[in-house]
Amino acid sequence: MNTNCIFCKIANGEIPSSTLYEDDAFRVILDVSPATKGHALILPKQHIANIFEMDDSTAEKVFVLASRIAKAMKTALNCDGLNIVQNNGEVAGQTVFHFHLHIIPRYNEDGQHISWIPGTSEAEERESIATQIKALLN
Ligand code: AMP
Ligand code: ZN
Repeated sequence: MNTNCIFCKIANGEIPSSTLYEDDAFRVILDVSPATKGHALILPKQHIANIFEMDDSTAEKVFVLASRIAKAMKTALNCDGLNIVQNNGEVAGQTVFHFHLHIIPRYNEDGQHISWIPGTSEAEERESIATQIKALLN
């Protein structure tokens, strides 16, 4: 636990939060400034700054939990869709440097825009990028 980290304090129960799920490894809370009704954050209890620091076992558990929460939200909130967002690094919009997965229920005409500007690419460039990444996997 990092004593200067607000999400460490929330995840470990030192600062109260609206908690909708807790187990040994995670706490899931409602975001204080929600994009939509029900916007939740999955927080690991361990201080992990971002996805680059995350071990495989935690990463697997995060998405299993996200899937369970998404289904519970669909039933409880009757949302029409749902975005899963996870920012790593300031350039990517991360403002709290303790890993968190945003689960954002979406409602028809909720006025939110969670999107990017589509770019362009050439087949040759895509092939080169895929080759560089592929070399580090498996
Ligand atoms: P990000 O920009 O991905 O780092 O997201 C940080 C999120 O944490 C934002 O959606 C904030 O509204 C949320 N947040 C910040 N402080 C708190 C807090 N004390 N309790 C709940 N959510 C928080
Ligand atoms: Zn932390």
